Amino acid sequence: MKKLYLIGNMKMNMNYADLEPYFANLTQVAENTSNVVGVCVPSVYLDFAKYSLENSKVLFGAQNMYHEDKGAYTGEISAHMLNDFSCDLVILGHSERRNIFHESDEDINLKVKKALAEGLTPILCFGEVKEEREGGMAFSVVERQLMNGLNGLDTDEINRIIFAYEPVWAIGTGLSATPDQAEEMIAFTKRLLHENFECHDNIVLYGGSLKASNANEILSKPSIDGGLIGGACLKIDEFEQIINTKVDE
Ligand code: PEP
Repeated sequence: MKKLYLIGNMKMNMNYADLEPYFANLTQVAENTSNVVGVCVPSVYLDFAKYSLENSKVLFGAQNMYHEDKGAYTGEISAHMLNDFSCDLVILGHSERRNIFHESDEDINLKVKKALAEGLTPILCFGEVKEEREGGMAFSVVERQLMNGLNGLDTDEINRIIFAYEPVWAIGTGLSATPDQAEEMIAFTKRLLHENFECHDNIVLYGGSLKASNANEILSKPSIDGGLIGGACLKIDEFEQIINTKVDE
C-alpha cells in the first residue's frame, strides 16, 4: 500500500464548538489508518488544536505565517509563535494568499526559508489559474513559482518541504483536475526538483476539489503522494472516507 499524506485546510471555517468533536473524531480516524493525517486550522484555534491533538497521530499546523521574528507587523504571526503551539505544519503560498492578499513568489520564498529554519514543515502550494492553463502556460507558471519559491534553498532543505499542486481553477469550484492532469503536473514537479536540486522522492500532494467520490482515482496515480483537502475536510465523515483511501504502491 502507498502511504498517503492527507492534510485538511480548514481555511476561515469552523468554530470552537465544532472543533471539539471534530478533533476527537479525527484522532480516532488517524489511529485506524497507516496514512499520514494532518490538519491546518485557523490560527486562533492553534491552542485548542495543541491541547486536543498533541498526543495523537494527527499532525497540525497553521495556514500562513510571516517571515520576521517579531516587531511592528500588525495581524501577523511568526514561526516562533507557531512553535509555541508545537505546530508541525504551515501552509505557505496558498493561491488565496497569492491572489487575494497579493503575496509574491519572493514573499513566499522568505516564508519557506524561515519555516524551515525554525523546524516547521512548510506545505508549499503552487498552481496555475484558469487563463494560464487555457493559454498553455500551466507548466511555465508552475516552474516559475517553484524556482522562485525555492531560491537559495539546498537539497536537504527542499526535501523537508511538502509540496501541493493546486490548480487554482479547481479550488473550491467542485471541478477537480482530471487524474491525468494532476499526475502530469506532479510528475513534472518531481522532475523539476530532481533536475534543479538533485532531489529524489519529494512529497507532492494534489489539491483542488478532492472529495470522497474522486479520491481513489486521483490518489492512485503513481506520482501523487496524497491530498490537500479544503471543503471536504470540514465534514469529518467525508474527510474520514478520504483518509481511509487505500491505493497500491
Ligand atoms: C485548498 O484550499 O487547499 C483546497 C484544495 O480547497 P478545496 O478542496 O475546497 O478545493
